[in-house]
Amino acid sequence: MQLTPTDSERRLQEEIRQFLAVELADAIALPSTLVERIEVLRGWQARCHRAGYVGRAWPREFGGGGEEIWCQGFSEPEAGSDLASLRTRAVEHDDHFVLSGQKTWVSWGQFARWCGVLARTEDTTPNHRGISMLIVDMRSPGVELRPMTQITGHAEFCELFLDDVVVPKENLLAERGDGWKIAMHTLGHERGTAALPRQVKLRTWLDRAVRAAAERTVDGEALIDDPEAQVALARALIGIEVLRHHAYRTVGEFLNGGAVGPQSSSVKLLMAEAEQRLAATALDLLGPTLQHGAPEEVAENDFWYETYLYSRAATVYGGTQQIQRNIIADRVLGLPRE
Ligand SMILES: Cc1cc2nc3c(=O)[nH]c(=O)nc-3n(C[C@H](O)[C@H](O)[C@H](O)COP(=O)(O)OP(=O)(O)OC[C@H]3O[C@@H](n4cnc5c(N)ncnc54)[C@H](O)[C@@H]3O)c2cc1C
Repeated sequence: MQLTPTDSERRLQEEIRQFLAVELADAIALPSTLVERIEVLRGWQARCHRAGYVGRAWPREFGGGGEEIWCQGFSEPEAGSDLASLRTRAVEHDDHFVLSGQKTWVSWGQFARWCGVLARTEDTTPNHRGISMLIVDMRSPGVELRPMTQITGHAEFCELFLDDVVVPKENLLAERGDGWKIAMHTLGHERGTAALPRQVKLRTWLDRAVRAAAERTVDGEALIDDPEAQVALARALIGIEVLRHHAYRTVGEFLNGGAVGPQSSSVKLLMAEAEQRLAATALDLLGPTLQHGAPEEVAENDFWYETYLYSRAATVYGGTQQIQRNIIADRVLGLPRE
């Protein structure tokens, strides 16, 4: 594994730093409402695309530019951890499928143009073999979305009801029965290679917590001067650094032709733990000052409340902590089943 960038990677690094220095200044402060946030993020994505930083490794003809949002319709009310038991059904007709069922926790569903829906096309044993992946146009008749508000106060995900939705056959991804394979590949990236951008985000949050702790005081003492606070921040930093190295390893293996398989579950565990430790540390550290309500501190305080509350979901989305441990025990370590 090579941990130092090559000359061309260094040049790209420098180019991106210059781009960020110019472009990021007004993109960093996100508005408080989700709808406004989506608009800002769409604009940011468009700027990155124009600069050539979106889909960089894709063939030119798939480079896009319309910035569409897609979402993932996997989970159902009775099929989360046990995803293979899903009941949404797609019945094949001449040139289309008819899709019926219910999905839940669909992130960004209400903003999305397309949804990758896992649906049962065969009754098989084991049941994961009869699942296919259909790309559903969210504007199709029979699609109903009900946003659900999270503990953060934002309705970031939604329920998705599919009532005899007609999906053209050309929207079947790969072959009938390939849905499970595609879903596992997608989840492998969500649990593994996604750690690369995540560790950058966590590091910026840590730096932000350190900055706030240096600026804020209690009884004339800067919060950062407390030795216990320094140890807690150091622990949070170690979690992020460990994640960074695992992210490099995972992405490195993938770029060298390796599969993103069950090992990604260990990265997901580290990713969730690093995020929760950092968010809890920041809340604990800044706690005595969070109620001050000085106008210039409100936005910063809200950021930390939201970051802490959202971090609770890190051990659930993409497969729960318990499920990642089961995968590691079963498919990586080959431990006997109980
Ligand atoms: C913020 C967020 C965003 C999400 N976005 C999406 C999305 O875009 N698309 C989508 O399809 N889904 C999404 N999900 C759903 C997510 O994948 C599921 O919540 C997750 O897989 C758990 O399923 P569940 O909620 O049904 O919990 P359950 O499966 O009911 O689990 C409940 C509890 O039982 C434990 N448990 C269950 N089975 C076992 C077992 N065999 N061994 C040990 N413990 C077990 C679980 O660990 C958990 O603690 C999202 C979830 C969150 C929180």
